Amino acid sequence: MSDEKKKEEAKYLFNVPKSDFSRWYEEILEKADIIDKRYPVKGMLVWKPYGFKALKLMRRIMEELLDKYGHQEAYFPALIPEEVFEKERDFLEGFSGETFVVEGTLTKKLGRRLLLRPTSETVMYYMFSQWITSHRDLPLKIYQTVNVFRYETEHTRPIIRVREIMNFIEAHTAHATPEEAEAQIKEGIQIYKKFFDRLCLAYVILRTPKWDTFAGAEYNYDFFTLMPDGRAIEMGSVINLGQKFAKAFDIKYMKPDGTYEYVYQTCYGVSERALAITISIHGDDRGIIFPSEIAPIQVIIVPVIFKGEQEDVMKKCLRLRDELSKHFRVEVDLSEKTPGYKYYYWEMKGVPVRLEIGPREVKNYEVTVVRRDTGEKRRVPDSALVEEIKRTLEDIDRNLRKKAEEFLMSSIREVSSLEEVLAHMNGTLIKVPWCGDDDCGMKIEERTGLKALGYDPEEECKRDCVICRRPGKYYLWIGNKY
Ligand SMILES: [Zn+2]
Repeated sequence: MSDEKKKEEAKYLFNVPKSDFSRWYEEILEKADIIDKRYPVKGMLVWKPYGFKALKLMRRIMEELLDKYGHQEAYFPALIPEEVFEKERDFLEGFSGETFVVEGTLTKKLGRRLLLRPTSETVMYYMFSQWITSHRDLPLKIYQTVNVFRYETEHTRPIIRVREIMNFIEAHTAHATPEEAEAQIKEGIQIYKKFFDRLCLAYVILRTPKWDTFAGAEYNYDFFTLMPDGRAIEMGSVINLGQKFAKAFDIKYMKPDGTYEYVYQTCYGVSERALAITISIHGDDRGIIFPSEIAPIQVIIVPVIFKGEQEDVMKKCLRLRDELSKHFRVEVDLSEKTPGYKYYYWEMKGVPVRLEIGPREVKNYEVTVVRRDTGEKRRVPDSALVEEIKRTLEDIDRNLRKKAEEFLMSSIREVSSLEEVLAHMNGTLIKVPWCGDDDCGMKIEERTGLKALGYDPEEECKRDCVICRRPGKYYLWIGNKY
């Protein structure tokens, strides 16, 4: 290998420390072929095959969970007549500023306005009112995976804050009683826990304070985690809609006694943002580290070739690829590049396990196995390889989960006064004693300049409210927020 070629290869290596997170994030998404930002509409991204594969694997986890918990997949149109969109007033107010409008074609005015879904409540509930007539139609649990459009006024950021959310997995349910809706909220939270656990992420689950509640909802719970730059990010929401939409859309059912009642509704959604968070949390200076379930390639085989022994090495690589592909997503890197370059390249792309195969491995009937998260190398007999890879993938997942958990837990601070908040402004989630009144809560936001994330209704607060000094009821969690 000539020096020139090595220099040429070096150009393609990823070289941004994760401590410079903003730049790390922007660059790794493109270097690792997750997305391409060059499409000329702000906040709308092109997904490249490698990134799309990871997304599809992630989506499959959620859809499997929703199926398992008795939801049915359906599809509803992207365009909403204005009169349907306007039916629920809080919802209208919440979304009117960010909803795109279609007024006609290039040559023709339509005479009516159609809105591009920013989320599908109104589309679905228009139909729910026609589907639900009897108590026998309940519960109804529907989901769809679609793109939704929001004219974000804040700074867009690739995948995290976009104007076309292209992988919105939204579930919507309708129930006969408030108790059943309440139980559904618990189930939704359960589903999300399982989902994020499988992505090896850590999170806190907080009830949103009243002044920030989802438009048209009674209350909602949000999953939050902390990004490497110390800012809190919302991962997903589970929302109790009560009867607000049911009344607006006239979704009624006949009870066994012949009287009618409005249904009780819930909805919950996650998007490709979960992938952005997974990449951000687990990655390191070398690039992405994918948890095993969503790694587009789980095992990469790199031939280490010396002159004259090429044939045996290649033969073994290809044989192993065929055998291992019965158990894993596996590829062989057959390109002309140096082994060193290939190591960096596949590390950058986040492949959890690398197999190195050279003449020594051929001669000894073994394989050198390298794990992405720790860099640890071990030589494994051919006969034990499948088991060893399985074990290594599980171990990597465990390690990623543990690190994510440690990072989040070590970033939580409990304070007893506003002054103390100011000492912990950077990179933390702060728990502030709070009496539970909206006024005090909003004052906490105002005086600290931080955003309220929510509170845990189950957690008792033994200190006094930092604003009014009456006994605290909850801890209000605050932080810098995406
Ligand atoms: Zn207070």
